[in-house]
Amino acid sequence: MALALETPLRELPGIGETRSRALERLGLRTVGDLLHHYPRDYEDRTVRSTFRSAPEGEAVCVAAMVAEPPRLSRIRKGLELIKVKVVDAAGAATLTFFNQSYVKDALHTGETYVFYGKVEGPALRRNMTNPIFEREDRPRFTGRIVPVYALTAGISNNLLAGLVLRCLEDCASLIPECLPSGLRRTHGLAEQEFSIRNVHFPENGEALALARRRLMFEELFTFSCGLALLRERRGQEKGPVFASKGGDGFSALLPFSPTAAQRRAMAEAAADMASGRPMNRLVQGDVGSGKTIVAAYGAWQAAQNGWQAALMAPTEILAEQHFRTLSGLFAPAGIRVVLLTAAAKAAEKRSVKAALAAGEADLVIGTHALLSSGVVFSRLGLVITDEQHRFGVEQRAALAGKAADGLKPHILVMSATPIPRTLALILYGDLDVSVIDELPPGRTPVETFVVGEDKRARMYRFVRKLVEEGRQVYFVCPMVEDGEEAAADLKAVTAYAADLQNRVFSDLRVGLVHGRMKPREKEAAMAAFAAGEMDVLVATTVVEVGVDVPNAALMVVENAERFGLSQLHQLRGRVGRGRHHSYCILMTATRNEESRARLKILAGTTDGFQISEEDLRLRGPGDFFGTRQHGLPRLRVADLAGDMRLLREAQAAADELLQENPGLAGEHLAPLRERIQSLFDTNGDSFN
Ligand code: ADP
Ligand code: MG
Repeated sequence: MALALETPLRELPGIGETRSRALERLGLRTVGDLLHHYPRDYEDRTVRSTFRSAPEGEAVCVAAMVAEPPRLSRIRKGLELIKVKVVDAAGAATLTFFNQSYVKDALHTGETYVFYGKVEGPALRRNMTNPIFEREDRPRFTGRIVPVYALTAGISNNLLAGLVLRCLEDCASLIPECLPSGLRRTHGLAEQEFSIRNVHFPENGEALALARRRLMFEELFTFSCGLALLRERRGQEKGPVFASKGGDGFSALLPFSPTAAQRRAMAEAAADMASGRPMNRLVQGDVGSGKTIVAAYGAWQAAQNGWQAALMAPTEILAEQHFRTLSGLFAPAGIRVVLLTAAAKAAEKRSVKAALAAGEADLVIGTHALLSSGVVFSRLGLVITDEQHRFGVEQRAALAGKAADGLKPHILVMSATPIPRTLALILYGDLDVSVIDELPPGRTPVETFVVGEDKRARMYRFVRKLVEEGRQVYFVCPMVEDGEEAAADLKAVTAYAADLQNRVFSDLRVGLVHGRMKPREKEAAMAAFAAGEMDVLVATTVVEVGVDVPNAALMVVENAERFGLSQLHQLRGRVGRGRHHSYCILMTATRNEESRARLKILAGTTDGFQISEEDLRLRGPGDFFGTRQHGLPRLRVADLAGDMRLLREAQAAADELLQENPGLAGEHLAPLRERIQSLFDTNGDSFN
């Protein structure tokens, strides 16, 4: 059967129902998907040697003949051992296989195979354990650089590599070249087919570097073009006009005077909302920098102009918190604020919805459920999301459907994840950004310490002391939320919490919340902690976007070296929200000087932007593209290694092309247009 890029993988030999479902978990449905599933690493299997001359302990390929039939022995239940004697040009060796009984029938006496593995033992008694092998006359995975892929349960690397090899055969030449030849020449970029072949099975290191460079460039370039097109499209849309009523009436409602940074963000939003085009603005500012009043100001402007506003929070608890703050703030101005949560009684929900439909409520606060079809607005003019990913396709469609008079509502997104300035233009290329880079006066920064295992007992004593003073404490453990390591991590964090309760703090109340819990259970645990029903809350990073617990005065992070600096900063922001002096303890057992130095940066500064710049410098942009906080397409190659120079080069190239040809018109750019479309499509964003 000849394969095409659109051929579903399930039609390939050896791929049944189970495997095709496993592949789908990796996002792989078609041959084309598979070819764009780039390796996360490589193994160099190019070194050939003999058993005698191979350096001990190093992995090499040895061509050798099977001298005797393999011998199988059962050491004990569950442990089978196969020994095989082989000879190569220079001598003999013994191969040992553990629990791989198929080897007995796979290796034939008198035949020559290439074995890849570590050679061990003295010169005359060489051996190799669990080598990879294949017939010498049909080498696929030996004698070359082989790819190492991201995997999932039920899919081995060999299986995946075999599939890729098969698909490359038929289809490597079918992938359309999406970079115009002039562009490739100017920037020294390899061709599509060469790059796809060599990113999977590189001929050599140099070819791999060329392939990677081209694919990274392609990704960043199409990404930049896509953002520019989004921006362009948005420029043609119409939004409600909020005539600026000045900020004085609003300021009179505030119990404090806004910082200069808050004023700037408010003015920028007001200008957008008065422009006649829909606002698309991101307000970025550290936790505690006072983003809420910028949102409140938007809602106030809407109400002054006879429009409704909706504020969406990521959790119900946060929604309730906002409701309390804002209904208090707006009461004197006669602005009508309502709360819509899943937890409310049916009758109450009905009356809130009726008020929104009749235009009797000015501001509604809730979760994403606000976007559901049952919620009808009379005149929705502004949608604000707090600490949430940006909108995907369905949400945009839902929003557009709710707008009045064919106008698109204004959108204001608030994020506490500082993005380095150098990256902001790329990540937020289709948004306007306001930065709140100043904290309200009178805050004492959270005191931060990097602590080694030798001081663990002291850390426990400190926790106890704070709890005795009436404070509460977070313990955060790293946990991968999916993939193979997730199960092990989940077990570890559960055991950790049990141990803390039973062995360390048996007289304190210890709770647990992790990302694998149902949303309702999570919320219940967070609510109990917020209500003071627990002293200690063990959590995975789910607390990152959490409730405000002003009484929490200490954040302990275990295995802190496993987190990115920005993420740690984010976690630290969970404490220091009340009037109590607060602390953050970064526990680490690492002796790696670099890791420790990295953590010490946090002890030295509380400026989220400075921290994110350091993170970028030390770990590359992969983390920023990876977190998906920005809600834009996830990049495949750019995740692997970050090259800021290439990033800028690709962006400049995109700008240049779009200057010349704003619509990317023309037959020769059709593959590029398709690439852009698919990049954004598969990632839940869209040009529609
Ligand atoms: P963010 O959402 O950015 O994390 P919030 O808007 O919740 O921060 O504000 C944090 C706290 O600071 C709130 O209690 C708020 O009332 C207070 N606050 C905000 N702006 C100011 C200001 N200009 N002066 C004093 N306090 C402020
Ligand atoms: Mg907030």
